[in-house]
Amino acid sequence: MIHYATEAGALLLDGLGDGICLGMTLESYKLQATSYKQVSGRNYLQSQTVEQFINNTAFSILQATRTRISKTEYISCPSCGRTLFDLQETTAKIRAVTNHLKGVKIAIMGCIVNGPGEMADADFGYVGSGPGKITLYKGKEIVKRNVPSEIAVEELINLLKENNVWIEQQVLTH
Ligand code: SF4
Repeated sequence: MIHYATEAGALLLDGLGDGICLGMTLESYKLQATSYKQVSGRNYLQSQTVEQFINNTAFSILQATRTRISKTEYISCPSCGRTLFDLQETTAKIRAVTNHLKGVKIAIMGCIVNGPGEMADADFGYVGSGPGKITLYKGKEIVKRNVPSEIAVEELINLLKENNVWIEQQVLTH
């Protein structure tokens, strides 16, 4: 994945291309799939086949370089001593309920000291503001202060609904 991203991503960032076609052998995929399980959290997309894996990787690189937006965008801090909640667990929880909102940018930041300044161009922010407290942002503006963390994801969904960017997840029946 690093090889794909550095080789193709750099060219796309320089504007040299509109799309990418990646190739991978089944043997390499099987090797990758084995190590993938040991580094969970590095890739959030499920793939059952080599084709799905390279397809997911290609769309991720296109999204990261802003060449083509095809899914929700997440911005999160790397976490540090100031982080006020389990960043990985919370990010996974938010991702699970919002990953169908194509093009919406959601920031998940560990603290209110530096988080808001590091949210870049996020549309919405979920920021730790005290032990067990979350402050929600729309852009750079605070909209819900010190929400208890147990209900903060629900409140984030309500905020997305209030701003007309929420759509219900489609459940496939077959
Ligand atoms: S936003 Fe706060 S918690 Fe996250 S890395 Fe920066 S200082 Fe640490």
